[in-house]
Amino acid sequence: MSTYGIDLGTTYSCIARLDSNGNPEVIRNNEDDSNTVASVVFFENENNVVVGQAAKENIETDGDRVVQFVKREIGKPDTRVYEFDGKTYTPVEISALILTRLKNLVESQGGEISDVVITVPAYFGLEERSATKQAGELAGLNVLSLINEPTAAALSYCARQFQEDRTILVYDLGGGTFDVTVVKMSMSQNDSGKDVQKINVLATGGDDRLGGKDWDDRLFDHILHVCCEESGLTSEEVEAETRQDIRSKVEEAKRKLSKKQSAKVRIDVNGSRTEIVITRKEFEQMTADKVAQTMNFVESTLAKVPDAEIDTVLLVGGSTYMPMIKNAVEEKFPGKVQQHDPDQAVAKGAAIYASMLVVEEGGATSSGAKTSAEKSGGETSEAKTSSQPEQLTAKFTVEDQTPRSFGPGVMDMKASKPKYVLENFIKIGEKMPAIFTKTYYPMEDNQERVRLRAFENMSTEDTLIPCVDEDGNPQATDPAHNVKLLGELIVNLPPETPRDTPINVTFKVDASGVHVEAVNTKTNEVFETFLRTGSDIDAEKSAVHQLRISAD
Ligand code: ADP
Ligand code: MG
Repeated sequence: MSTYGIDLGTTYSCIARLDSNGNPEVIRNNEDDSNTVASVVFFENENNVVVGQAAKENIETDGDRVVQFVKREIGKPDTRVYEFDGKTYTPVEISALILTRLKNLVESQGGEISDVVITVPAYFGLEERSATKQAGELAGLNVLSLINEPTAAALSYCARQFQEDRTILVYDLGGGTFDVTVVKMSMSQNDSGKDVQKINVLATGGDDRLGGKDWDDRLFDHILHVCCEESGLTSEEVEAETRQDIRSKVEEAKRKLSKKQSAKVRIDVNGSRTEIVITRKEFEQMTADKVAQTMNFVESTLAKVPDAEIDTVLLVGGSTYMPMIKNAVEEKFPGKVQQHDPDQAVAKGAAIYASMLVVEEGGATSSGAKTSAEKSGGETSEAKTSSQPEQLTAKFTVEDQTPRSFGPGVMDMKASKPKYVLENFIKIGEKMPAIFTKTYYPMEDNQERVRLRAFENMSTEDTLIPCVDEDGNPQATDPAHNVKLLGELIVNLPPETPRDTPINVTFKVDASGVHVEAVNTKTNEVFETFLRTGSDIDAEKSAVHQLRISAD
């Protein structure tokens, strides 16, 4: 059984494995004659759920039975639930349906599949990661690990063109998201003295509402406008079927314009046929502002790492097939742009990583993940071992980094008015596992207990005002920091505990979550909790039950 890499995309998903020569190959989606599967689910009726291109063809006519862009919802705190034919579906369950379709793709071609690596955006927090993993498990897959999409893209690039230390800017323009990531690849030696290639994420940026769909929408509006002009109808009067016809044809026209100088679209409006020719130049003019928007995100992401010298720019995502994108990026980074199978690179990188995790005999894995063979107590299959090329394992190791910053909420008594602040123990991008300890004190003598709240955020500052106060009420803070309450630890204190009792608080972050520990140093009593996803927070309100920063 091979291991597989899965790019679970916002608009298109892709699955790959290594072939018998150790080269990554994508499993074709023969039904749609494509390398990818549209991440769109159509709930046709209670007995039939369709995933892929056929589902996409119902967006305009049966939009209320179609779910798309579910990746934007996965692991979000106010989880949206979809309801069809009396059944409810969470974003995790919808994602599982997409993953099941990918799994079926392998099985319908005679393959066996269990162990997989699924990719996630570098900016995903713990909850989004955990929900993605859950979706994989729900689809009956054994998720060995998750890997950041840009890291996977960089891996697949390096498998092709091995390079020494380099800083790569990954420009990933997909269907609904734009991600810019600066990754550093460096050579170092592992514990056994072997040369290994490390990949670190230095900075991330982008917009999760910017992607190929914006280019489609511009083309859609243009064609609809021409249809209206020719038929004398207003846009509201154009029938849903006609709109669906335009919707289905814009993406095709857009793809044609990536290859040719013009594309012809034929639409039947009110029984008469309208033929519209769009030239590449016109298309480029109507979307120039979108290209500029992506370049602004490139600038702002670069500004986060002023010392980084970009050696290579990797174009990833189906939308980078559009020549206007390559031209714009080339203009800014002359001679540095690389583009190889942009809609498959992430899945291929994940397949390379999956094979790296499955180590030689015995099936031990480098990440501590358990393979399906290990879980069932069986042997690691031969195919697995042979599909893992020696040279790849020797070359790369991916250093896991914290996807967020983490720390407790505590009272800062130094300010003129005491403030509830978040002290970042572990900062985004630190090597995992990361660990940090600090000493705090009860607010008052004889305090019964401490309510220690753990937060994640995207700031690299030492101290932040959290987005919730000590009572758990939302606060207005800079939304860019994305402060999120992860959960809490209740620390009970014995009677007559003085307010100068040191309480040592430790945060440990690894790929599976955050471990929070508090030790009452007077009694040596240990309190701990493990926060994988947003745990329920008890609504009890009391500012007293806090820890404060200093002893005086
Ligand atoms: P995701 O956003 O899910 O990661 P992809 O990276 O596969 O997905 O990108 C999908 C987007 O790429 C879609 O908007 C699709 O229309 C677009 N796309 C794919 N191929 C081409 C092409 N040849 N020319 C222009 N756009 C393309
Ligand atoms: Mg993608």
